[in-house]
Amino acid sequence: MPFRTIVGHRRLLTLLSRAVARDTLPPALLLAGPAGVGKRRVAQAIAETVNCLKPHDVASGFSRTDAPDLARDACGECPACRRIQRAVHPDVIVIEPGDMGSIKIDQVRDVIDRADYRPFEGRRRVVVIDEADALMPAAQNALLKTLEEPPSASMFVLVSSIPDALLATVRSRCSRLRFAALSASEVTEVLRRDHGYSEQDARAVAVDAEGSVGRALESESADLVEARDGAQRLLDYTARAGDPARRLDAARDVTGKKGTSAGERDQLAACLRALGSLLRDVGIVSAGGDRSLIGNTDLEPQLASVARSFDSRRSASAYAAVDEALAALERNASPKIVADWLVLQL
Ligand SMILES: [Zn+2]
Repeated sequence: MPFRTIVGHRRLLTLLSRAVARDTLPPALLLAGPAGVGKRRVAQAIAETVNCLKPHDVASGFSRTDAPDLARDACGECPACRRIQRAVHPDVIVIEPGDMGSIKIDQVRDVIDRADYRPFEGRRRVVVIDEADALMPAAQNALLKTLEEPPSASMFVLVSSIPDALLATVRSRCSRLRFAALSASEVTEVLRRDHGYSEQDARAVAVDAEGSVGRALESESADLVEARDGAQRLLDYTARAGDPARRLDAARDVTGKKGTSAGERDQLAACLRALGSLLRDVGIVSAGGDRSLIGNTDLEPQLASVARSFDSRRSASAYAAVDEALAALERNASPKIVADWLVLQL
């Protein structure tokens, strides 16, 4: 998993790549940010780039078109890179929570002991602590001294989506890299490339994933495809029909017949989130904004057609109404009432 194959996070990857090339990588890093955006992959890419036997860099004729910002990257193919990918490299140690959900002091003592020895075959021993917030307080305290004065040939990479759960003393000894959520397009790209999603499924899941591949993978893609289809039909319909009675018919389409059960509530909520995402895109189209910001790129022709009825003011107020409808659903309002109200606001 070299840096150049990681989706998103370009600025952080550039920074890390330069630091590896200049040998100025801090000995203790904290990769902090939302769950499911690729932090652990980045930790592995650091370990590969540091220990790769044939790193790509300017001297080795690194293709600048592939990765224009990277000063150095792992080859991804040498024996060292392959062993790291298979998690059998003797100098790259990953610790993570056990069955009980926590990282115990014994796991930490073991890596501290090993950190004192020179690397067996790599240039630098890399200890990755995934879900570092699961470190028991005693384990964190055991780490403190090592984080403060790491043995010169070792480095520590802590990964956490809730970094504030770590002891302040641990946090203060690490250089923190802040990861942001991915864009919907980036989530789509990962789902298609690494998880075998079709373009349509990937798009539908990505717009509801809040920039997290992990979240996207947890959600039911079939339901979300249906939710986005429903949202699109509703939007098409309201763009054309002014008549309230006919609009209310369109509401039945997305709430089911009764519109009362918990399942119908979830389905409507998914539909509303998809609708919000579509309206956001319609707003971009009608305002003549930057098309690269569009989440539902596969629906651009349909978005353009809806944008003829939804100028930027109407799409903004519709977006606000969707937001209000979602809040009402969360307060337990009836899905049927929420849907009826919403179709009259759009
Ligand atoms: Zn390599």
